[in-house]
Amino acid sequence: MNIENYIRDIQDFPKKGIAFKDITPLLNSPEATNACLDLLVSQLENQKIDKVVGVESRGFFFGILLAQRLNVGFIPVRKPNKLPFETISASYELEYGTDTLEIHIDAIQPGDKVLIHDDVLATGGTAKAVCELVEQLGGEIVQVNFLMELTFLNGKEKLSGKSVFSALVY
Ligand code: 5GP
Repeated sequence: MNIENYIRDIQDFPKKGIAFKDITPLLNSPEATNACLDLLVSQLENQKIDKVVGVESRGFFFGILLAQRLNVGFIPVRKPNKLPFETISASYELEYGTDTLEIHIDAIQPGDKVLIHDDVLATGGTAKAVCELVEQLGGEIVQVNFLMELTFLNGKEKLSGKSVFSALVY
């Protein structure tokens, strides 16, 4: 099973000059999805995990699958004004402007061991903001994992000191 065969490049999406990694063929294959999940779980080396945090929106797919496989709770990190209960937020720089992410204040208890998941590590701004949210609530980040890392964007530098694993590296 070569997971890479289930990721396709879409040129000029969402804007000209960007080659977007499309994970929908992967989601459309139960075998490839399972193989990817096996690989991600194998890298946790039986470390204790209390919660899986997934990032809106493509981080929800495997985030939920990981939480189910590990038999722990799933926590969504969402864009502003989507979560109904009280939240804390973290902002990060984009090429033009800033973006904000939110988490429920009661989602994580101090000392919880947390796995953070998103589909792609690009510049690392998103993942760094999620780490800040988790740590602000007192969570301990065990690992930040991704389906893919785009190494040419150096996102790992923003996650220095964190354990980072990506199923595929480009
Ligand atoms: P970063 O903050 O690391 O620059 O961007 C990561 C976020 O952008 C992730 O939440 C991810 O979903 C999205 N993203 C950036 N590039 C791609 C891509 O090529 N494919 C997919 N599926 N998502 C991407």
